[in-house]
Amino acid sequence: MAAGSAIQIPSRLPLLLTHEGVLLPGSTMRTSVDSPRNMQLVRSRLLKGTSLRSTIIGVIPNTSDPTSDCDDLPSLHRIGTAALAVQVVGSNWPKPHYTLLVTGLCRFQILQLLKEKPYPVAEVEQLDRLEQFTNQHKSEEELGELSEQFYKYAVQLVEMLDMSVPAVAKLRRLLDNLPREALPDILTSIIRTSNQEKLQILDAVRLEERFKMTIPLLVRQIEGLKLLQKTRKPKQDDDKRIVAIRPNRRINHIPSTTEDEEEEDHDDVVMLEKKIRTSSMSEQALKLCLKEIKRLKKMPQSMPEYALTRNYLELMVELPWNKSTKDRLEIRAARILLDNDHYAMEKLKKRVLEYLAVRQLKNNLKGPILCFVGPPGVGKTSVGRSIAKTLGREFHRIALGGVCDQSDIRGHRRTYVGSMPGRIINGLKTVGVNNPVFLLDEVDKLGKSLQGDPAAALLEVLDPEQNHSFTDHYLNVAFDLSQVLFIATANTTATIPPALLDRMEIIQVPGYTQEEKIEIAHRHLIPKQLEQHGLTPQQIQIPQVTTLDIITRYTREAGVRSLDRKLGAICRAVAVKVAEGQHKETKPDRAEVGEGEDCKEHVTEDAKPESISDAADLALPPEMPILIDFHALKDILGPPMYETEVSERLSQPGVAIGLAWTPLGGEIMFVEASRMDGEGQLTLTGQLGDVMKESAHLAISWLRSNAKRYQLTNASGSFDLLDNTDIHLHFPAGAVTKDGPSAGVTIVTCLASLFSGRLVCSDVAMTGEITLRGLVLPVGGIKDKVLAAHRAGLKRVIIPQRNEKDLEEIAVNIRQDLTFVMASCLDEVLNAAFDGGFAVKPRVEHLNSKL
Ligand code: ADP
Repeated sequence: MAAGSAIQIPSRLPLLLTHEGVLLPGSTMRTSVDSPRNMQLVRSRLLKGTSLRSTIIGVIPNTSDPTSDCDDLPSLHRIGTAALAVQVVGSNWPKPHYTLLVTGLCRFQILQLLKEKPYPVAEVEQLDRLEQFTNQHKSEEELGELSEQFYKYAVQLVEMLDMSVPAVAKLRRLLDNLPREALPDILTSIIRTSNQEKLQILDAVRLEERFKMTIPLLVRQIEGLKLLQKTRKPKQDDDKRIVAIRPNRRINHIPSTTEDEEEEDHDDVVMLEKKIRTSSMSEQALKLCLKEIKRLKKMPQSMPEYALTRNYLELMVELPWNKSTKDRLEIRAARILLDNDHYAMEKLKKRVLEYLAVRQLKNNLKGPILCFVGPPGVGKTSVGRSIAKTLGREFHRIALGGVCDQSDIRGHRRTYVGSMPGRIINGLKTVGVNNPVFLLDEVDKLGKSLQGDPAAALLEVLDPEQNHSFTDHYLNVAFDLSQVLFIATANTTATIPPALLDRMEIIQVPGYTQEEKIEIAHRHLIPKQLEQHGLTPQQIQIPQVTTLDIITRYTREAGVRSLDRKLGAICRAVAVKVAEGQHKETKPDRAEVGEGEDCKEHVTEDAKPESISDAADLALPPEMPILIDFHALKDILGPPMYETEVSERLSQPGVAIGLAWTPLGGEIMFVEASRMDGEGQLTLTGQLGDVMKESAHLAISWLRSNAKRYQLTNASGSFDLLDNTDIHLHFPAGAVTKDGPSAGVTIVTCLASLFSGRLVCSDVAMTGEITLRGLVLPVGGIKDKVLAAHRAGLKRVIIPQRNEKDLEEIAVNIRQDLTFVMASCLDEVLNAAFDGGFAVKPRVEHLNSKL
């Protein structure tokens, strides 16, 4: 009979699982889609499908889909609403999701689930056949009565609303034009009902039941409106919208409170206006704010925009337009402070002092932005903090790692729901002054996405020519950033966008030597940890040998962060003991703690950590100070994590030690080679980049062309090394991507060892790029690489001749521990890498005179 009867849904429907709202036939709902299954449905069905049928989906309410893809499908509500997807909007913020606009068509029931992945599809049976209403003669009379009663209530409800609002007038017309049986669903979704009630209406498959259930809801709404109209003042006419059906916060209150509150709000707005006028914001900002406050005064408070505008104005008032701290800069004091806070890092401290000195001489310097580049935990952030301290400025750290949306820097326009200012403006609001030190942490980890390039936004922030009028999208007026001192940190320059790199002065902060780490630990880390754990040097003693043990056997890093953590773990364990001891001491029968040397207690192997806590009642209280020796270390930190494995790995031919540079510092790297019968193929494993693969090919070519000179043969004695032979080169650890040319000499040495059957010296590490002619070219990161070799206990390092100048940066004591071999060609490398040299077979030169 009616339009609805023509609806025929497909017998198989993809299912959208929602848990927020309940969609009823005839109504429209906006729903957010972010679980993996629902996202799949949108992507592969709605966005790819071309027919109208492909936009029909089954919406199953009250089912929250697990966020992980692999989780099992939750139990599904049996009845759902077939719906037409009218609109799909995608967004990446704050995380990837779609917003769907769906219109309900009719009920269905799941007969059988056909598949669960990538999104559920079910065989369904359509439940609403609208002819049913007229065909069921049996209950027609009763239904007719029910529907008439329902219709009357619906009309009464709509007529209580303001008919001059077009939407209300339309609703009134719809009541007459729509088939009666469609009304319960539609009205339920319009009036104020809970999800639970809507779910009950959805489950009411029989029309009669549905009418019976909806009538009380209508009556409740009518009563609510009647009450509302009584309490509303006659002059109030601002709620003409259909939204008025849902009584809102203000009109729900009793009259006296309403007035009070309104007055209060009004006072607030006046206060806000006063604050705006007295604030020191720029002229342009003041103009904008006054315009906004004018709008705010006219706006009903129930409008969502009211809160938005008010938040905006409050932020504008709070921003430090003209408020700054006074710089107190005295270079001598700054030097002392930097030295006190940080051990070693002389080059960095020198450059920072120069920078500060120039600032002192010439106020308001438009200098380059300093960027500290180095492995994690070498003190980049903490130097930034010290700079702020020396200048007497506020410090704020902005973590840029993973930021891939330019609005993170520049804010969202206020037209967006949930819009907010970017991190720079937020930072200024937090510190409350306009000349703080901003540390832009991890600029090398900036991402890029469809939402624009954050690096480009940062350019505007950092460029001294532009940043005096930085415009955040949210503020929409310029803010002067020229007083802010920006410092950046990064692990590597390789991934910093070139334009950004161009604006910054790079200062390398290399990793620390073992000796430096020991000093840092004893001067800074241990006192800090003791303080954090409420311990005193009279309670715990960590000798230098123990610190060395932690550095070599429990950590392998360029910085000191994990060392700091290990020291923290030791302090925690000792704190437990000390606390227990104090508890014991309060008991009367406890003997006095001994004195002198013998009062030190060694936490020995049999004093397991458990014994520290569990057997406390049995054990005597510890005698102070608790000495952390090797056994105590093992108890607290477990067995050592790193042992020197060098000599063991070099016990067979075909292995050599290379030196690699990573953003986390230098590392030693074993290169392994093996050969087998085959057709002359080269296999490379260990996640290598293109440059590294090329180095391997270069190495093989050079060895093949020099095989005769060195008497290198394959298994069958031929000088053509690849004849009937396959070579496999492996670079552990296979999970880490490696690239760069500096492994060239290591590959040559490793292969030379393989084909000559001789062992490479186990205390030698090497680095250097090679050419086809056998020359050794210079490479980068020498300091970090040498430190890594030293850490690993190696004795000799082969480096390219032209890198000799880089050795000056390395501490004297490290240089003394190691022997350096400067190589300019591969002959020299091989000679140094093998015990007794790698002899070239002298060419027998018979010069037969032709005279
Ligand atoms: P980064 O920013 O380089 O990753 P941090 O600045 O966070 O490293 O440093 C980690 C910890 O190591 C901090 O507690 C810092 O005080 C300490 N630290 C690092 N280097 C030194 C040093 N040279 N002197 C004193 N403490 C240091």
